[in-house]
Formats: sequence, structure tokens, C-alpha cells
Amino acid sequence: MAEFYPWQYTVWQQIRGTVVLKTHALLLKGRKGIGKLDFARSLAKSLLCKQITAERVACGMCASCKWFEQGAHPNFYLITPEALIESSGGAGSESSTTDKQDADSGKSGKKPSQHITIEQVRALNDFVYFSGHQDGLKVILIHPAEAMNGAAANALLKKLEEPPSNVLFILVAHHSQDLLPTIRSRCQQITLPIPDAATARNWLVQQGVEHADICLALAGASPLQAVAFNHDDYFSQHADFIRQISLPASFDPISLTNRLHKLDLPEIVSWLQKWCYDLMSFYTTGKIRYHVQQETTIRKLVATADPKLLAIFWRNLITSQQLSRHPLNAKLFLEEMLLSYIRVMVPERYAD
Ligand SMILES: [Zn+2]
Repeated sequence: MAEFYPWQYTVWQQIRGTVVLKTHALLLKGRKGIGKLDFARSLAKSLLCKQITAERVACGMCASCKWFEQGAHPNFYLITPEALIESSGGAGSESSTTDKQDADSGKSGKKPSQHITIEQVRALNDFVYFSGHQDGLKVILIHPAEAMNGAAANALLKKLEEPPSNVLFILVAHHSQDLLPTIRSRCQQITLPIPDAATARNWLVQQGVEHADICLALAGASPLQAVAFNHDDYFSQHADFIRQISLPASFDPISLTNRLHKLDLPEIVSWLQKWCYDLMSFYTTGKIRYHVQQETTIRKLVATADPKLLAIFWRNLITSQQLSRHPLNAKLFLEEMLLSYIRVMVPERYAD
């Protein structure tokens, strides 16, 4: 990729021009799927580069850049939850959890942790004090920072309170409000921008995304998530899902479950969450956020659904979202969720 996304040009100039060298901790925050992690990596790479270009981006040619690209730079350290390392082959891309889950994951042994643990933060000591080039800058990237559990956050706070010299911490957070206030206050905070619709659309078209507008709407205007919608049959699977649940009076939950249960379960729950969000939103405000193409269907469904039941079901999906990370039986879980949906939308279907 380019060193940063088109919508990040201004903020790159600001940060790379002045801020970084005056602080020992940066907090890059903003919506998921807008390229924060890539931005942070590019920033780190440029700070370590030995032949920085006139635009202050990494040259891509020097030994430092080569090490960085191979994931082997001795002065760069990435802390990310185990689960993200596994699902992304090490890089931890922001959108990776949506499309590359191994269908067999969960079959063998312990599930990888979704949290950043205290052991991971403690391991920094070796990096800070004993490894790398002692005199050069060291960069520590923590992503997503809100994944630190309590103990890990407190351990990091100690390091931020007495920052080692020549070390830059870059924290990346989708939900910075979940971080300890004391951590936030010790960081220079920068909100990365969300691209406007035209910029995002142009960029998606350049990436070869076929249904740019639809993908963008589904992703809630986060372009990197929109790209994930375009990957590996993801779009067609999602389209099939929406087609089916658009017909709650007749679709077959068993056969839909059979088609879906090997996909990433939390993702399917989020499909249903977005769908129900649109039903609720259309009922209360007449507005649709994600499924702009399905207005006629949504209008029809909302006309007959019981809004109270729908609201309860929608709220319960939040719990389903949490449970979907550790289901005892993915198939059963999905089937139950779809049956509940049918019961809400068409109570008479299972009345007898
Ligand atoms: Zn370089």
C-alpha cells in the first residue's frame, strides 16, 4: 500500500511535521476500519527509516525499511491480542477479523486470547532495555489499546509515567473511551479522520471493489471494512443472508444455518444486528443506515413486525454477540438465533 491513505494526508503532515518528536506517547483514535493501524505502522516505519524522503515518508529502500517490511526490525515492537495475530498472519490488520477466520478454529485446544495480557506488556522490558540498537529510537505499537486487560493497562501506565528515553509508544484505539483516563492523559491524542463519501468511494473503486456504494453503506462508512465485504464470496454470502432474512415467513433456518455455520460467527451476528438496527431505525425515524438498497423490503417488514418484540430481540443480540465468540455449538447457536428472529418477525409461523 501507499504509506498512508488519501484521507490521511493532512493529519500525516501535521504529525510527521512536528508532533512526534515532542512526545513519548501517541494515541491514534477513531472509528474501526479507517486505516489507523496502517497509519501507525507507516509512522513507525518512517521514524525508523534511515533515508527519509522529502515528504517525510519511509524510503522503502534502506536496511531499516527492509527489516520493517519483513517484520524483523529490532527497534520495533508490536503488541496485539493473540487472536489478532493468528487471524491475520501476524500483521493484525484492522479488517482481518471479518474475513479470514479459519473454519476449523475452535476445534483444537484453547482459543487465542482477545486481550492484551500483562505478560505481553512486561515483555517490553527486554525490548526497551536490552535489545535493538541502544542509541536509536524504539517504537512500540499497541493495537487495539483497549484490548489491554486491567493488569496490562496498569503495567503500561507505569511505563508511561516514567517513560524510558528514546522510546515512542503508539497506541491505536477504536474505543479510546475504554482506556484508563490516566493512560489517555499521558498520550498526545490524535483523532484520525473518516473519509467523506466521495473520497472513500474513489478509493474503493481503485481497489477494485465492485459494489463500492453498497459495501460502504454496509460498513458504516469505514472503507477498510468495506473492502472486507468484497473479499472471497463474502459479498455473495452476505447478500444471500439478507435475501433469506428478508423473507422471515418462508426462509428455511436449517438450510441457511448449514450454509453459514463455518463462517465467522460474530460476523454473522453483526450482520443480523445491522439488519435489525435498520428495521428499528426505519420504524422510529424512517432512516436506513446500512441496507440502503433494501428500503422496500424493510418498509414491508416494519409494517407488520411488533416493535416492542423487535426492540427486545435487538437488545438481546448484544449478548449473542458476546456469546458468539465462544459458542458450544456454532450450528445450534445460529439456528436458535434465526428461529428467534422468525418468532419476532412472524409469530404466527410457529404458533401451533
Ligand atoms: Zn528507509
